[in-house]
Amino acid sequence: MDAQIRVARAALHMWEEPCLSGRSGSGAVFFSGCALGCIFCQNREIASGKAGLVIPEARLSEIFLELQEKGANNINLVTAGHYVPQVIRALACAKSQGLRIPIVYNSSGYEKAETLRQLEGLIDIYLPDLKYLTPELAAAYSHAPDYPQYAMEAISEMVRQQPQAEFMPEDRTEVSPIMRRGVIVRHLLLPGHVREAKKVVGYLHETYGDQIYISMMNQYTPMSEKFADPNLNRRVTKREYERLLDYAAEIGVENGFYQEGATADESFIPKFDYEGVRKK
Ligand code: SF4
Repeated sequence: MDAQIRVARAALHMWEEPCLSGRSGSGAVFFSGCALGCIFCQNREIASGKAGLVIPEARLSEIFLELQEKGANNINLVTAGHYVPQVIRALACAKSQGLRIPIVYNSSGYEKAETLRQLEGLIDIYLPDLKYLTPELAAAYSHAPDYPQYAMEAISEMVRQQPQAEFMPEDRTEVSPIMRRGVIVRHLLLPGHVREAKKVVGYLHETYGDQIYISMMNQYTPMSEKFADPNLNRRVTKREYERLLDYAAEIGVENGFYQEGATADESFIPKFDYEGVRKK
């Protein structure tokens, strides 16, 4: 992407972890472009950078304030890593005008620690993926054999900045306590890759214990195109997901999220119709 900010959607989003979405939703701003190029990407339309409207920094600040006004529990910066300097300025401007809800940095994990250090003090909740620990798998599925190294260093920096989770005072109208600060690391279980998933969850638990939350996801949805790797042409089975959850319980993961029911559903993919991007 170039220096112009491109955004595909800015709206209340109900499909994050309950401590982020709550009842009123997370104020998700979907930036166009992505530093990774996963072959199974379900958000290809925006990850490729094709969808999205170019907006000035001042409009981005306004969008943050508008989402707060709509009742968002937080501002959720989805894949903003390639716009960090612009986001820092837009956040500073919005904060000076009354933005007070937590800021979530939602990322593939393919980040440089030095970039994250620039965000210190501005981000309340880090929400990275840890997709793989095996370089060969990261190369095959995301063209990035160095992903594990960068993602491990990035998560370490995120935990340094937010070493302990905190929640808002209990609100009985809410579905769950709402997070105020902390780190939630996501892992999307890929079909046929329970062993890799266990390695990821084991590493996170051994390294960070209950300092972080681990979100284990089963929502992988095959694309309409067929891949040479047959694993990618099917969904995760119930048994595969259970094996991962059983393992997490066995090793003592308590701060965890899992998905219920048949969640491999298209409803997780929002419409990138520029909702909330243009000024009304
Ligand atoms: S990190 Fe996510 S958005 Fe980026 S290419 Fe991979 S699946 Fe798509």
